[in-house]
Amino acid sequence: MKASYSKVSTPLELELHQQGRRLTPQRKRVLDLFQRIGGGKHLSAEEVHGKLLQSKSRVSLATVYRTLRLLVKMGFLNELELSEGGHRFELLSQDHPDHHHLVCVNCGRTEEFESEQVVLVGKQAAEKEGFKLLESTLNVRAICPKCL
Ligand SMILES: [Zn+2]
Ligand SMILES: [Zn+2]
Repeated sequence: MKASYSKVSTPLELELHQQGRRLTPQRKRVLDLFQRIGGGKHLSAEEVHGKLLQSKSRVSLATVYRTLRLLVKMGFLNELELSEGGHRFELLSQDHPDHHHLVCVNCGRTEEFESEQVVLVGKQAAEKEGFKLLESTLNVRAICPKCL
């Protein structure tokens, strides 16, 4: 028996509605794309654009940029700023908590790693200065074996 998933709103959709924003087909398509590929994938706006075109969505790169920025603001995506590799976006999700990034500054290849120490050190530093911790992540800029 098939469960009727299509009738059930995903938490993401619910939240979008709660925030009083219209879930335009455009935004939904971008969110769907990230949900389909899952956590731990880091896409540039160009890659998102390319994937949308592949699925026959006619959308401009400028619109993709705007949509991505909005989804970051709303807390659904995380934006990584890599100096030379440009910006990349990833899905924020409960089952993919605080993690860190090893980034090739040449080709933008991004690997994730976990480190309790980094999280802890960030927490301690924040506590010491009386800051409220929001996240404690580390972006390591490096050059991958292919680009060496
Ligand atoms: Zn990541
Ligand atoms: Zn590289």
